[in-house]
Amino acid sequence: MNKSQELFDRRKKVVANGVGVFNTATVKEAKGAIIIDVDGRELIDFAGGIGVVNAGHCPEPVVEAIREQAGKYLHTSFNVVTYEPYIALCEELAEILPHGEKTKVMLVSTGAEAVENAIKIARQATKRPAILCFTGAYHGRTMMAMTLTSKISYKYDCGPFAPEVYRLPFPNFYRYHGKRDMDTFVEDELKRLYESALNLVDVKSVAAVILEPIQGEGGFNAIPQKYLEGLRAFCDRHGIMLIMDEVQSGFCRTGHWASWQYYGVQPDISTYAKSMGSGLPIAAIIGKAEVMDAAAIGSIGGTYIGSPICCVAASATIKYMKDINLNEKAVKVGLVIKTRLQNLMSQHSEIGDVRGIGAMIAIEFVKNRDPRQPNSEICPQIIKGCADNGLVVLSAGTYKNVLRILSPLVITDKQLEKGLSILEAEIKKAIHNI
Ligand code: PMP
Repeated sequence: MNKSQELFDRRKKVVANGVGVFNTATVKEAKGAIIIDVDGRELIDFAGGIGVVNAGHCPEPVVEAIREQAGKYLHTSFNVVTYEPYIALCEELAEILPHGEKTKVMLVSTGAEAVENAIKIARQATKRPAILCFTGAYHGRTMMAMTLTSKISYKYDCGPFAPEVYRLPFPNFYRYHGKRDMDTFVEDELKRLYESALNLVDVKSVAAVILEPIQGEGGFNAIPQKYLEGLRAFCDRHGIMLIMDEVQSGFCRTGHWASWQYYGVQPDISTYAKSMGSGLPIAAIIGKAEVMDAAAIGSIGGTYIGSPICCVAASATIKYMKDINLNEKAVKVGLVIKTRLQNLMSQHSEIGDVRGIGAMIAIEFVKNRDPRQPNSEICPQIIKGCADNGLVVLSAGTYKNVLRILSPLVITDKQLEKGLSILEAEIKKAIHNI
């Protein structure tokens, strides 16, 4: 038995979590876009730790910043004894992700925590209770975040969930456009938004609408431009906070610091985590100062918020991303992936869609192109085949029929080419198997 298998067996005996159907690999070390497993096997990483390593595994300046900080102090708790790395990171975030005239930032440790706090702040700022969220959404696994999350299979027996949360239909163009063109689709969906909002809840009691402009776990569904503009206008009309969850789409993935910058639509509050800290647990809530200042002292915080080690890792990540122009690189990487996969789609009717913005690219499998019936059997085969051949990939989507590519954006041309070749071969194999 190899070392990886041995560790996987040990995991099954003692680790209380059923995720991980088969053994992809057990990491020994990772650098850039490559994971080396405990048996010395090299894998190209197209999953990026679920979108956490946009700047690559272990970028040298980030590792160095962590080392240096570890020699100074590890913890004082920011609200007890303040430290500069927290303040510096907030300044840097406010600069790259400005929210109106004056921006304020709060740090926490995970994406779910950022979402929880964004909701609290919106309620405090508006003095209203209700929250609108979307079908297909994923916002995390704490109780409010899970309430906002759509996928039922993640939620069995976890309720009762938070009250005053209402779900709107996400305008998923690929799945629901029928035969409508984009303009008609958006017009109809905006009408549906106004009607559903009115039928679900009194808009005067709505504090916030929360959405991922590009749904991550939901299958990389990008909100149509005009719908987002319509949603912004709807929020302005009714004094509702627009919260954008950029946990998966942020930090260069779309060729921007956040996908709302791609759309040019300003949120009141937005949330970040994942690639912000290159793997260290750090997350942020960023918003207009007047909104963020509504948070009552004592209602937001925590022992580990903005841990100094995580702050310096995030600051070094941002600097590194700027230095190597990662936003530009994302656009190039995304174009290569999209072109290759679109070419494959032209040859196989089992591929229903190839979509995405920047390097946030997904491929959706269907039983037939009309009426686009989801094919849920194919992704597990591809994931297993890829793992056996040295590539890590991830699925997504309500029906688990979508493969999403979240490779580190520092991936070299050669690694990208090799990864795509493995992926193409495994897709073809899986298609012929069904
Ligand atoms: N929001 C979005 C959009 C996410 O993709 C995720 C994680 N996949 C979360 C929130 C939750 O983040 P975390 O796992 O760090 O709590």
